Amino acid sequence: MAKNISPFLLIVTMEECGELVQACSKVYRHRNKKRDRKLLSEEVGDVLAMMNLLCEAGLVDLDIVENKRVAREKKMKKRMKKRR
Ligand SMILES: [Mg+2]
Repeated sequence: MAKNISPFLLIVTMEECGELVQACSKVYRHRNKKRDRKLLSEEVGDVLAMMNLLCEAGLVDLDIVENKRVAREKKMKKRMKKRR
């Protein structure tokens, strides 16, 4: 675990996650308009960048990340299949 945790890194990550939440809401609320999908893509990019920086800073255990990612994808695919 990193000893010197940058508050700036964590704060910007929180802000970018908030922007991603807002972008998801706009795609839903405005019924999937092109400009909102572009914004969603941009915010996903921002969050991916912050996740990479969290990894580089030693704040994230990539084994836990991968296990959780696989489990979450499996669960979501199952749930989405039921909703069709
Ligand atoms: Mg952003």
